[in-house]
Amino acid sequence: MVYLNGEFVPKHNAYVHVMDRGFLFGDGVYEVIPVYSGKIFRLDEHLKRLQNSLHSVQINNPYSTQQWHQILHQLLDYSSTSNQSLYLQISRGADVCRKHSFDTLTPTVFIESNPLTPKTKPELETGYRAISQADFRWQRCDIKSTSLLANIMYAQHAKQHQVEEVILHRDQQITEGATSNVFIVKDDTLFTHPTSEHILSGITRDLVLESARYCQLSIQETAFSLADLLSADEVWLSSSTREIMPIIDVDGHSINHGILGKYWSQVYDYYQDLKHA
Ligand code: PLP
Repeated sequence: MVYLNGEFVPKHNAYVHVMDRGFLFGDGVYEVIPVYSGKIFRLDEHLKRLQNSLHSVQINNPYSTQQWHQILHQLLDYSSTSNQSLYLQISRGADVCRKHSFDTLTPTVFIESNPLTPKTKPELETGYRAISQADFRWQRCDIKSTSLLANIMYAQHAKQHQVEEVILHRDQQITEGATSNVFIVKDDTLFTHPTSEHILSGITRDLVLESARYCQLSIQETAFSLADLLSADEVWLSSSTREIMPIIDVDGHSINHGILGKYWSQVYDYYQDLKHA
């Protein structure tokens, strides 16, 4: 079952109009929210970011926080899987003709949920590979927009190079991954790009910072270069579906001789506690 514009329908019966601006322009925003043991994780934070994205592109939020809670829980009731990933997207809606500018329309709301199988700690401990590329996305990466052509190109590049992620740099500084936030540890300090219009402010990013604080790791929300990343003691990616993933190779350079540093494990463990709190 999926949710489409006020109804729960089988996915094969869920259709949107060809004049929907989500279809024509990618004119919409989205969220991906993990569900652990049937509980939606950090829902209010995701709904707040959704509201910020909607506000930035002048789409009215069709539902109150309470209505969102109700709809998402109703959708989860259709599934017995305890760990899931909720995908929700709101497009500006269908117009009568194709034009870039818009009038007020009725937004199209689509929500689906899929099983989520986070990698286990032993799986993560094997370490993952990434490559770097220039960040050629637009200047409003803080909006979780459904216009994802650049991200699609990066994802395909990663697939073709058989790596986990493409790490992006703009003006000599690492911004984030194509679908994740990026952290490095150097000399007992954790660095990550500050929140700005050049990154998506990840919900997991905040949780990594909270976990790192608990582990008494000092934190600097300061941009760093690709050279800093290559000479770091640890490199991590974070996202709602990847959680916190250690990277041991970037562009064929081993990070810390391919050996996982001591902080990842501590921060990962605390994050697991937060998930199940
Ligand atoms: N940055 C980008 C570009 C992303 O696409 C994502 C997740 O999809 C993230 C960061 C991580 O965000 P979150 O932790 O909220 O999943």
